[in-house]
Amino acid sequence: MKIYNTLTRTVEDFIPYDEKEIKMYTCGPTVYNYAHIGNLRTYIFEDIFEKTLRYLGYNVKRAMNITDVGHLTSDSDSGEDKMLKGAKRENKPVLDIAKFYTEAFRKDTESLNIKWPEIVSPATENIEEYIKIITKLLETGYAYQSGGNVYFDISKLEDYYKLTNHKIDEMVVGAREGVEVDNDKRNQADFVLWFTKSKFDSQELKWNSPWGVGYPGWHIECSGISMKYLGEYLDIHCGGVDNIFPHHTNEIAQSESYLGHPWCKYWVHGEYLNDQTGKMSKSKGEFLTISLLKEKGYNPLAYRFMCLNSSYRKTLLFSYNALSNAENSYNKLRQKITAIQPDGNFKKEDYQKYDEQFKNFIGDDLNMPNAITLLYDLLKSDIGNDTKIKLIDAWDQVFSLDLRKEKVPLPNMTEEEIKSWIEKRALAKKEKDFARADEIRTYLEEKGIRLKDTRESTTYEWIK
Ligand code: AMP
Ligand code: ZN
Repeated sequence: MKIYNTLTRTVEDFIPYDEKEIKMYTCGPTVYNYAHIGNLRTYIFEDIFEKTLRYLGYNVKRAMNITDVGHLTSDSDSGEDKMLKGAKRENKPVLDIAKFYTEAFRKDTESLNIKWPEIVSPATENIEEYIKIITKLLETGYAYQSGGNVYFDISKLEDYYKLTNHKIDEMVVGAREGVEVDNDKRNQADFVLWFTKSKFDSQELKWNSPWGVGYPGWHIECSGISMKYLGEYLDIHCGGVDNIFPHHTNEIAQSESYLGHPWCKYWVHGEYLNDQTGKMSKSKGEFLTISLLKEKGYNPLAYRFMCLNSSYRKTLLFSYNALSNAENSYNKLRQKITAIQPDGNFKKEDYQKYDEQFKNFIGDDLNMPNAITLLYDLLKSDIGNDTKIKLIDAWDQVFSLDLRKEKVPLPNMTEEEIKSWIEKRALAKKEKDFARADEIRTYLEEKGIRLKDTRESTTYEWIK
């Protein structure tokens, strides 16, 4: 297969360290709040990646961390620990917050048919691993103690910035606006491996270490968990593009200095989900969660379908209108699939021909939009229904859209008819005849059509 590698900035042939088992690591959530659907776009892309590898015949061992300590609000060494922020907000102990939001995240992944990685490990359960790595980094001179903390010395590396496309000046923490200068650092881009005597005295979770009571930095957690469960040679490491710097840059620095050899071959990053103002985040705009989408009547799998229709390397713009359109297409697609009746007509050659194309698309840097188009082509084609059904079931191992799981009723009204009812209702509303507008809504509901009013327009979905 081919995949875009951030490290080389090219689409490369995927050649793992060991064909027998692919080692894959994906950065997990910081469990101080619900995940928003932007975070979940990244987890959908990683899920598709793992399932693609499996579909192409690879055996995959995948690990993911749960960040429950050490991730500061700046992603660097300034700001407050996000977990502490969550604990203060809800007036609960940090570990209760972590447990609650880990479970909420697991439910979100379930709603989106995202496979839970076989290894999921909370950062707080691997402290001895970080201590082991930091001890060696201190012994070998890559790390130093200063002002109570242990720092990684980036000047010891010639290629610290190799993962990023930026010039050093742009990346140096301290040169960027709003980031505090830390006088305890030898170089402003040095980063904390272990916090001890820091300004975060209210930190709830602390552990004994050779350097005093303290807690790990966020970056060392992913290096530690990855090496503990997946060994010294990692094939794939994923995350969102905002993880490239500083998080993944620092992971490479500390892991390769610790190991003394190259570590991860392929760094693969998913682009953002944006809203009208830019990157979707928890601190601005409407906080869009899966439960909110459910409350508004959307099927979470319609959101998965929306994500699959664009490349993971392109930003995706969210609007309710776009989601409604995706949901309509998704429902229509499933209606078409429901209409396919087994006919005893299976042809191996047809199956192989289509499946070959499917593998080419998914293996081409995870080209899901082309794979979805191929699905539509398959439905239009005149090959036997049994062949179609077998292909749909196989491909859904990657798409995970429940394409044949639930029967979707065939429409007893045409799209034109429904649209004309929606227009009549809009007119009634405009003329303030709300009784009539409600009557139309009820009439359509009886026919199995549920209307949804968004700020921009009215859309519909089939409910029975
Ligand atoms: P966090 O829980 O903050 O550590 O983030 C979890 C994952 O979501 C990380 O891999 C981020 O790169 C990713 N992420 C954050 N915001 C977005 C967004 N707007 N679109 C896509 N991925 C995102
Ligand atoms: Zn990470």
